[in-house]
This record gives sequence, structure tokens and C-alpha cells, in this order.
Amino acid sequence: GKEACEYLISPMVSGVFAGDPYKLSLKSCFPVIADLEETYGGLFKGMLKKKNKKSGPAGPGGVLTSYKGGLINSLTDLSKKTKSVEYRLGDGVNRVEKVHDKFHIKTASANEFDFDHLVVACPSYVASEFFKDMDSELSDSLNKIHYAPAFVVGFGFDEEDVKHDMDGFGYLIPPTENRKILGALFTSSIFPERAPEGKKLVRVIMGGDRNPWIVGKPEEELVLMALEGINDTLGIKGHPEVVQYFKWNMAIPQYYQGHSKIVKSIENASESAGNLYIGGNILYGIGINDCTRTSFEIAKKLLENIKAHQ
Ligand SMILES: Cc1cc2nc3c(=O)[nH]c(=O)nc-3n(C[C@H](O)[C@H](O)[C@H](O)COP(=O)(O)OP(=O)(O)OC[C@H]3O[C@@H](n4cnc5c(N)ncnc54)[C@H](O)[C@@H]3O)c2cc1C
Repeated sequence: GKEACEYLISPMVSGVFAGDPYKLSLKSCFPVIADLEETYGGLFKGMLKKKNKKSGPAGPGGVLTSYKGGLINSLTDLSKKTKSVEYRLGDGVNRVEKVHDKFHIKTASANEFDFDHLVVACPSYVASEFFKDMDSELSDSLNKIHYAPAFVVGFGFDEEDVKHDMDGFGYLIPPTENRKILGALFTSSIFPERAPEGKKLVRVIMGGDRNPWIVGKPEEELVLMALEGINDTLGIKGHPEVVQYFKWNMAIPQYYQGHSKIVKSIENASESAGNLYIGGNILYGIGINDCTRTSFEIAKKLLENIKAHQ
């Protein structure tokens, strides 16, 4: 009912998508939950039936995982392991056209390239721009995906200045509580190596689809709101020793109801263009696990297509 939606589903939706549960498509955003409902006739019926069945872990060992030193190391690792690949960084694609069966690409620094196959893994609104001349329908479909903003601020405290023991993952706040923050992650508890001995690191998340007002607010003001948001809950007694923040005006794609139609039209357009693959978080899930799965599927299809034409 309404209460389950507000206190169970809404915080989960804001924790994953920073989204509005009344706008999102259950099937596109949380296919496992949609499947529970379809198979067992209800969420709780499904959870009770599945209680004794072993479910897959969220990551290796069933704990939250990341790269030592942060997610950026997934990319630096990859570049070390793929020495024969030529990387061109910091020169975004501006325009894509199909010329003599090849993708002709123009970049921001006026470089031009021709490729047989093209994998797109940038935000959909960027791809929408560079596909305008090649295929206006594809461009329009990509542009239909709405993005929610996000503001993330990390506060580093001396442990003496935080009353809460922060023994856990953190917390998410139901939107009905009308707070300015979506929740907080106890980063130094999840990843102890991210804070020195005797210090605590909290990451506060603001914004999301229900709070587009953050886009127009100065970052310094948002930092103060974030601090105010955790003050009482965590029993903050002193000033943070470290403050780092980042604002994304278009952070997370929102799979609204009707997303599956957008997916279908983008798939059809890619199929007609030939050798075009849309990856990243645009279509099939926004979690890193979803993006990784999508990448493996694309790599497999790409190899099959290359082999088929040899
Ligand atoms: C605040 C926040 C917290 C999150 N927390 C989690 C979490 O805890 N767990 C989880 O699983 N997921 C989380 N997510 C979601 C997840 O991080 C993203 O969905 C995922 O990283 C998206 O990966 P991507 O490769 O599709 O996009 P991105 O990582 O955004 O990469 C897109 C790339 O496209 C490039 N690009 C842009 N324009 C161009 C251009 N013109 N030409 C060429 N390249 C271009 C960019 O430089 C960038 O490198 C979070 C997201 C946010 C915003």
C-alpha cells in the first residue's frame, strides 16, 4: 500500500536512481521486483516464497565492493591491461555520420576518424546531439531519456566529533520526511581504508528527480544544507576537517514509464544503422553491475559480427 511505497520503496528508489517512484517504470528499473510480483502475485508473497532460496550476492562475497583508491582505478587498470589499444582521451565526439558503410566521426578538437563498428557509452543527451545528422529518430529517442541531478559531499570528521557509532552502511530518508538530503553513506565503515585511523568519513547525497532545485543553488550553500542534514542524526559536535563535493546537473538517467518503448526504438535504429552498439547506463540498468553486464554482451556481439564478416 501507500505506506510500504513511502517507507520501503521510495527510499530504495532514491538510493539507487535518485528517482521518483511514481514516475519510474518498475520493470525497467527493478526487473527482479517486477518478476517477483508477476511470478508470485505480490511483493511480500514473493519475498516469503523466496526466503529459503539462495539469492546471488551483490558483489564478490556479498559485500559492497569498490576499487582500492576509488573507482577511477577500474579505468587505469584496464588501460594497463590493454596496451595494444589506442586511447584518445579528452577529445569528445561532436558528430557521427555514416559514410560508405563506415562511421565517420568528428571530435571537439576537429579530429576525424572512420570506424567499422561504433560502441556508444556516453550520456544519452550527448549521443543525441552527435547523432542528429546521421539519424534524427535515433537522436530524438536518445533525447527522451530524462536525467536527475545529484550533489554529493564528503565530510571527514575526527571520530571524537561524531557521537553516532556509524556501524553500518548509512541511511536513506523517506521523501515524506521533507528533508533536504536523500541520505548519508558511512563511507569509512563501508571502506575502512578510505579514512585514516581515528577519523570518520560520511558521504551525503542530495538532489534527485524530486529535488531539481539543487541545480540552481550555489555549491557552498548545498554543503551547509548537507551538514545541517546530518548534524542531529549523527550527533555532530565539531567542524568537518575535510570537505569535498561535486554537483552533476544531469547525473542519473531516469527510466520513466514507457522506457521499454524508448529502448525498442533505439535498438531498432541501431539495428538499421548496423554495427552500432549502445552501452553504458542509458538503456539496461544504471548500476555498475548492469553496465558491466551490458559491456560484456556488447563485446560478445561485436566479436561475433567481426568474425561473421571475415
Ligand atoms: C552520485 C552517484 C552515485 C552512484 N552510486 C552508485 C553505486 O554506489 N553503485 C552503483 O552500482 N552505481 C552507482 N551509481 C550509478 C553508476 O555510477 C553509473 O550509472 C555508471 O557509472 C554509469 O557508467 P557509464 O559508463 O554509463 O557512464 P559514465 O561513467 O558517466 O561515463 C560516460 C563517459 O562518457 C564520456 N563522454 C561524455 N561526452 C562524450 C563525448 N562527446 N564523446 C566521448 N565521450 C564522452 C564521459 O567523459 C564519461 O567518461 C551512482 C551514480 C551517481 C551519479
